[in-house]
Amino acid sequence: MTAEIITIGDEILIGQTIDTNSAFIAKEFNKIGISIFQITTVQDDKEHILKALKEAEDNADIVIITGGLGPTKDDITKRTLCEYFNDVLVEDKAVLQNVEYLFSKYIKTPISDINRHQALVPSKCKVLMNRYGTAPGMWMEKNGRVFVSLPGVPYEMKALIENEVIPLLRKTYSFPYIKHKTLLTYGLGESAIAGRIEDFEDSLPDFIKLAYLPSLGRVKLRLSAKSMDEKLVEYEMEKQVDKLIPLVEDIFVGFEDDMSIEQIIGSRLTDVGETLSIAESCTGGRIAQAFTANSGASQYFKGSLVTYATEAKINVLKLSEEEIEQNSVVSRQVAEAMANNVRKLFNTDYGLSTTGNAGPTKGDSHAEVGTVWIAIATKDKVISKVFNFSNHREKVIMKATNKAFEMLLK
Ligand code: ATP
Ligand code: MG
Repeated sequence: MTAEIITIGDEILIGQTIDTNSAFIAKEFNKIGISIFQITTVQDDKEHILKALKEAEDNADIVIITGGLGPTKDDITKRTLCEYFNDVLVEDKAVLQNVEYLFSKYIKTPISDINRHQALVPSKCKVLMNRYGTAPGMWMEKNGRVFVSLPGVPYEMKALIENEVIPLLRKTYSFPYIKHKTLLTYGLGESAIAGRIEDFEDSLPDFIKLAYLPSLGRVKLRLSAKSMDEKLVEYEMEKQVDKLIPLVEDIFVGFEDDMSIEQIIGSRLTDVGETLSIAESCTGGRIAQAFTANSGASQYFKGSLVTYATEAKINVLKLSEEEIEQNSVVSRQVAEAMANNVRKLFNTDYGLSTTGNAGPTKGDSHAEVGTVWIAIATKDKVISKVFNFSNHREKVIMKATNKAFEMLLK
């Protein structure tokens, strides 16, 4: 089973919008055993869209099109689809109701003719209702191929892929059953782990594969099972996971398929009823952002202060000016004082801090580019570590964020 993705949008071709839609769709399709044959981006232009559709039809069983359905440009994409499928546009009542509902609830203006246009769809299409936006998804079939046109807005497209397109594809075709289990480990390198679990790896049934995915100091062990027999996959996967966990017990953190590292930290804190606050300098709020991306985080994550400039560390976090001057703003003393003080300010069990120099120049701190101190304070003690992550600003920030999660896990 193969698919081709066509993304439509002038904004992608001038580099203003990065095509994240294709990456998402490719990942989701690969999970269920559909290979992506080609990804194409075309202008909001009839001839280009037609050409891409024709080519895709020759190449793949499934063609997914995203974009070009916003109220100002939808004429081109929808009329082009009609031409391609020899169809006409008709007003869909349910879509019109959805447009009216979204306008009355969130936009609070009467709908205009342009908005009403959103309810026009090719007469032969199956409408995929978009509860987050006015442009519906459209499912069409031609010569044994499936064509699906989706809005370009990433969260609308994602919801439609997950809730409508994949379930419908599963009804239309029979796919092998695929299951992944990803064990997140830290503290041991890839080759050391491989040595430890060699016998386990050799004993795996041939429909289960093990992959090592090392990244930034952690190693993910991903078991992938693929078979037409769903029960067999479920049964064997559970059995193999039960065999693997004891072998890596000391370095095993959790399953990443279900949870990200910050969610694992969150659930551990919630389980024991403990709380966390953060004082971030060089990570600029990224650690906090990762926690708050999860609903329910307020149970364990109480808040973060981005105290970037030295004055902020003094005025907000109440660090002593002398101490900063004596030790440099990137130092053990400052990291530990930040962690201690933020913990007290928020009255939490843990206080986490980062202070570093992400570069590209030495700046006020006089610390070497890439140096980052990370500290974690509790009521009784504070631990801190220093790292030199890289000479690239983005990489330093990213690695410091990841390292902070890792230290919290320990
Ligand atoms: P607009 O005038 O906003 O571009 P449009 O008719 O082009 O409207 P869409 O193509 O559905 O509407 O895109 C809506 C928005 O979704 C775009 O402005 C763009 O920011 C985003 N978008 C479109 N395609 C992609 C994509 N492939 N990857 C990521 N974002 C995308
Ligand atoms: Mg567009």
